This record gives sequence, C-alpha cells and structure tokens, in this order.
Amino acid sequence: MSTITTSQEHQVIDQVPKQLYIGGQWRDGAEGTLAVEDPATGEALCEVADASVDDARAALDAAVEAGPDWAQHPPRERGEILRRAFEAIMTRADELALLMTLEMGKPIAESKAEIVYAAEFLRWFSEQAVRIDGRYAVAPNGQGRLLTMKQPVGPCLLITPWNFPLAMGTRKVGPAIAAGCTVVVKPAQQTPLSMLMLARILEEAGLPEGVLNLVTASSSSRTMAPLIEDPRLRKLSFTGSTEIGRKLMEQASHNLLRLSMELGGNAPFLVFNDADLDAAVEGALIAKMRNIGEACTAANRFHVAERVAEEFASRMAERLGSMRVGRGTEEGVQVGPLIDQDQREKVSELVEDAVGHGARVLVGGHSRDGAGYFYDPTVLADVADDARVLREEIFGPVAPVTGFASEEEAIAAANDTEYGLVAYVYTRDLKQALRVVEGLQTGMVGLNQGMVSNAAAPFGGIKQSGFGREGGPEGIEEYLETKYVAVNL
Ligand code: NAP
Repeated sequence: MSTITTSQEHQVIDQVPKQLYIGGQWRDGAEGTLAVEDPATGEALCEVADASVDDARAALDAAVEAGPDWAQHPPRERGEILRRAFEAIMTRADELALLMTLEMGKPIAESKAEIVYAAEFLRWFSEQAVRIDGRYAVAPNGQGRLLTMKQPVGPCLLITPWNFPLAMGTRKVGPAIAAGCTVVVKPAQQTPLSMLMLARILEEAGLPEGVLNLVTASSSSRTMAPLIEDPRLRKLSFTGSTEIGRKLMEQASHNLLRLSMELGGNAPFLVFNDADLDAAVEGALIAKMRNIGEACTAANRFHVAERVAEEFASRMAERLGSMRVGRGTEEGVQVGPLIDQDQREKVSELVEDAVGHGARVLVGGHSRDGAGYFYDPTVLADVADDARVLREEIFGPVAPVTGFASEEEAIAAANDTEYGLVAYVYTRDLKQALRVVEGLQTGMVGLNQGMVSNAAAPFGGIKQSGFGREGGPEGIEEYLETKYVAVNL
C-alpha cells in the first residue's frame, strides 16, 4: 500500500451522500448538520445531516408504509438485492476502506478486513433469505395438524456503534432485509459515513424505497426515544455499551419490543502451561490489537499460567513495543488513534490505577503529544486483582498480564466479571480445553485462536454482554416471528 494522497481522501469524502435517507429520498435534516471528525488529526472531515424528532418519525413512517409489500416480496429477490450489494462493496473495497479509516482511525488494512467481513453478512443473508421455512406435524392424538410458519417481525430500529462502522450495520441490515423486515438505521454520530455509503449501495442495488431508512443525529436520545415508544415499531436491535443498552431496554419495555442486545465485553485470554507460546502470542496480538483494542471482543486481560507468565508478558511487550503508531492512512502504520479524547483519558486512567495498585509497565503507558488521540501500545505485568483495568472494558491498546496457579483458578478468574461475550483459551490438552470451554460463562470462545468473528457463526454474549445472536443461521431468527396454526381436519 502506498501512502494515500489528500486528493484521494477528498474524493472518497465527496462521494458520500450526507443527507438523511427516508422513503427512498435523500433530504436535509431539520436540525442542520453535525460534524464528522478524523480522530487522527482532530479536524472535521465533513458535515452530515442532523435529524429532528420529526425526521426520525418520518423514517419510521416510511418503514411502516413499505412493510407489507416488503414482507410479501419474493425471498429470492430480497436475496438478490443483498447479493448485488455484497458485490458492489467488494468492488469498491479500497475506497470504502479509506473512508472508514478517515472516520474511525484504524489502519487501512484493518478497514479493508472489516469491509470484507461486513460484506460477508450481506452474502450470507442473501443465501438465508430463501431458507426461511416452517413445520408441519401431526398432533400427538392424531387428530388435527400443527402448522408452524415464520413471518417477518415488522419495522425494526437498528442502532450501531462507532467501532466497526460498517460491519455492525450489515450484521443487522442483512438479516432484517432477508427476513422481509423494513428498518430505520441510526449509526453512531462519530462514524456515519460508512453507513451512508451502505444506504447508497443498497439503493443502487435496487432496494425498494422505504425498506431501509437512515437517520444521522447529534442527539440520539431525543430522536430515538419517540421511535422506541411508537407502537408501530416491533423490534430494536442495539449494539453499543451495556449502560445505554440497559436504558434502551427500559424504554422498549413499554411496547414489549423484540430485542437484540450486543453490548460490552471484558474478554479473558487464558494461556495454560502446555500452550504453544508462539501461537498464543500471535493470537494475543490479534485479540488485543485488532481495531486498536476498541472491540467488544478485545482481549481485556491476560491470565497466564505462572510458569510462563513472565515470558509471555515480555514477548508481548517486545511485539507491542515495535508496532508503528500513526495515522491509519500512512504506509506501515499498525496502530491508529483512539476515537476521541474521552476514550484516551479513560485508557490513561485505567493504566494509572493499575500502576497505583503495583503493576509494572513493560512497554508504553502514555499518550502521544500532538494532534489526534494516540495512545502507545502498553503491556502491564503483575496486575493486582482489584485493579480497574481487569474489571472494566479498556477499549484501547493495553494488555494487562496476571498469573494463575491452577485450572480452577483460571476459570474462576475468567468468570469473575459481569460481562460474558467471549473468552480465548490456549492449550494443547484437548481434555483441558473442553473442560475450560464448558466452564466459561461466555457466548463465544476462541480455542487456540485470537479471533471469533465470522458471518456464518452466531455472534453474541450472555450476562451483561446482552442477548441475541448475529450471523449464522441464528442471525435471521432475530427478525422472524413464529406463527402456529392449529389445523382442524
Ligand atoms: P454507545 O455509547 O452505547 O453508543 C452506541 C449507539 O447508541 C450509538 O449510535 C449512539 O449514538 C447510540 N445511543 C447512545 N445513547 C442513546 C440513547 N439514549 N438512545 C438511543 N441511542 C443512543 O456505545 P459506543 O461507545 O458507540 O460503542 C462502544 C460500545 O459498544 C462498547 O461497550 C462495545 O463493547 C460495544 N460493542 C458491542 C458489540 C457486540 O457485538 N457485543 C460490538 C461492538 C461494540 P451517538 O453516536 O449519538 O452517541
């Protein structure tokens, strides 16, 4: 990859539609515009529409109006629209990756990987659209028949975070459209550009007007609350922090909405005595440093068998210390900026707290001066059990390492959190692997691998990491209702 020029940056920004997309029309927001910033420079990239409550309601009106036709639309055609959008994203992967790096900060190669991952959800669900089925059974007493059918849930509100600007959208939009639901999408205000491009791509792929509506807004609470409380809405799918997820669940209780909640994480990464240490370090780098550590699946804490903990920590320090930090558009950069100053301050605080509790800083441990929200890759050893860095979601390039004496202790430490999204386990002992996997209180486990995300697999958590699954055959079920018909013969 050669370094990107300013004119290439302007070109990709210029082609993004910056208005609201409602009922097949691009239109201005009644609240004016809101700025989108490059986290590597702190400078504004462009302005996008700022929706009012009435704009948001108009988006729901459009979704409600388009609902019945879309539910009846032939599944094959629904799938083909998604498939065309998949192809378009793949064809335009380079420009979309640059756009994502500009708004979110991650290095271009990582943005490209997200583009491919995001597109994969459209391909997967284009194939699932024609596999929605039901059951026909003879009643146990032999009299009458039990018919079970699947129908689209109805109008959905999809709210997404900034850390994976496209994939968190396609993971919801793909199955919703495949199932025959219409949607209102609300991307994070810090990274709306990738989703605006997705709306344009779906429009060009032939998605009928009103099936997907997109609103960007500077006040999500003000614009979204009336939709969540509107009885015409039937489902809310949310990806974001546990704190906001809880609030939205409360709001959604008025309408008893169907809910999918993909929330925060605090993933443990366990390395046992017999693990292949080279593989564990490679896996740890991916699990920790993917997305600059700003992933719900990021390894938040490394629990390592005491015999190998020191070696693991020093190898991690060597690797993280040699990573190149900089603007994601520059050649060779491996670690971009954090999303904003608040996030960087939180990471700093967690490191200071750990050091205050006796942790040793093996590498990093500070912010970078100058423009942008950079924080150096950091490894902490001898981290005390009560350090906040082990308990809270870090969302930054900080790897705390702590030792364990036994398998029981490792499992207990891994589960000692209110979160339950994912865990990583490194061991060569199959029996131990299965015992540990069964003992972990998480929705997902990476067994001898540092990444679990796959469009064909059910992604999701338990405990305070939420509920519902995205991807895999389970993903489309979140957008389907089961109707049972008692048939009198
Ligand atoms: P966030 O602050 O919870 O925001 C997520 C989305 O919710 C944004 O679009 C935000 O809009 C919107 N929002 C905030 N308050 C709202 C309200 N009162 N009503 C309606 N919408 C509201 O989370 P974030 O900082 O963007 O994302 C990071 C979090 O997401 C982390 O905790 C991470 O673990 C989690 N995450 C989870 C998964 C998963 O699959 N489990 C995947 C990725 C990320 P604004 O932009 O306007 O604030």
